[in-house]
Amino acid sequence: MRLLAIASECFPLVKTGGLADVVGALPGALAPEGIAATTLLPGYPSVLAAIPGAVKLRALPELFGGPARVLAGTAHGLDLLVLEAPHLFDRPGTPYLAPGGGEWEDNALRFAALGATGALLAREEGFDAVHAHDWQAGLALAYLRHGAGRRVPSLFTIHNLAFQGQYPATLFPRLGLPPEAFAMAGLEHYGHVGFLKSGLWYADRITTVSPTYAAEILTPEGGMGLDGLLRGRGAVVDGILNGLDTLEWDPESDARLPSRFSVADPGPRAANKAALQHRMGLAEDAAVPLFAFIGRLAWQKGVDLVLEALPALLEGGAQLAILGSGEAALEARCRAAAVEHPGRVGTFIGFDETVARLLYGGADAVLVPSRFEPCGLTQLCALRYGAPPIVARVGGLADTVIDANEMALAAGTGTGLVFAPGSAQMLAAAMRRAIALWRQGEPWRRLQTNAMACDVSWRRSAGRYAALFRDMVRAESIDA
Ligand code: ADP
Repeated sequence: MRLLAIASECFPLVKTGGLADVVGALPGALAPEGIAATTLLPGYPSVLAAIPGAVKLRALPELFGGPARVLAGTAHGLDLLVLEAPHLFDRPGTPYLAPGGGEWEDNALRFAALGATGALLAREEGFDAVHAHDWQAGLALAYLRHGAGRRVPSLFTIHNLAFQGQYPATLFPRLGLPPEAFAMAGLEHYGHVGFLKSGLWYADRITTVSPTYAAEILTPEGGMGLDGLLRGRGAVVDGILNGLDTLEWDPESDARLPSRFSVADPGPRAANKAALQHRMGLAEDAAVPLFAFIGRLAWQKGVDLVLEALPALLEGGAQLAILGSGEAALEARCRAAAVEHPGRVGTFIGFDETVARLLYGGADAVLVPSRFEPCGLTQLCALRYGAPPIVARVGGLADTVIDANEMALAAGTGTGLVFAPGSAQMLAAAMRRAIALWRQGEPWRRLQTNAMACDVSWRRSAGRYAALFRDMVRAESIDA
């Protein structure tokens, strides 16, 4: 089976978050299932630089204001199609933000171009199915439905319902879609053009990245204005947990770590803790528990709760290392905490893969206090690197971490700590509990062993995706 994945990020070529990790890892996980995935990406500078030997597959003389080409190439074991459109994608900054921090003003057209090209390629290059990821690929499914040519079954995956890609109705006439597409039974969302809405409406099947989030998004509290639509499509909504690329994320072979270790030989981990303390300006002391926070500095991720709960952490004699970037006010608060508590709180503002590995491989525990979390990869990385995660009981966090309460500890099943979401008090209580377990020594070592022994790979989930794709293709051949 030939699958066309459409996405705007793909590790290690371009990444701003977990979407990239998933898009980069799924093709390798699907290959043993007999599914050959090709990934269509925008031609950002970092993507074009990774495919020097690529060949031209198609010329597109006019694509939303300029000429474009589709290149075919391979990089890091991935089969890629790359939309080379310099007027849309050859820019500095992140995929979505200009260097100053504001959104590119033509983001709607940039990702409409990705979608239109994706639909064209799906139909004309003989793909059996399409997998569209998040709002950036949402319009592909409208183009696929309304364009001429053969039908190709599609799956739309929600990585985060909070990012909806909503644009003014004045955009619609420029998209080249028939008027009937701008309707509630189409891509219209409260009078706007909704890219995510388009994906949810036109997809044959919908998945999100954990079973708990799949249930949460059907409720008014978790549905972010789309729960009605999602409930209407409930029969085709599924939750399939994300995995980690366990070759890429392997503490035994991770070249970015100062010192490599394994579940059988965790000893060398201590050197990473020392290196982390040094790097973050923390007191170099092996006898204090060291907590880490890694993630976008945004309301969703709850770094403000960490700062609010900081007294509990400091009273317990622990240290905190923060790595992240995002909202200016939160960045400033994280920096201020480091200034206020020298040697005890360290802050690194930025997006840095090497520093991230040092935190996972050196910290004693990783804090993931998200207010909502579709799946979360941070806690999976933390499990794999032996830093038991302390997580809020929401979305994928609830599905992937087993709380080390007394029974779980006795039964040897705990892998981290779980607390009620959205509360600094509950987070503080969980941190106190973690500090006490850490100081006891043996229970924490058991927790660490259990965490590292968790199967966080794609194996099971790849099987579920493969079954879904086979189902879609079978249904299509029956319909046809
Ligand atoms: P998101 O909602 O941001 O996608 P996830 O938990 O799904 O959150 O994925 C986050 C991914 O990005 C993880 O691989 C995490 O290690 C990485 N990450 C987040 N912030 C940073 C950062 N500042 N530097 C390096 N890696 C980061």
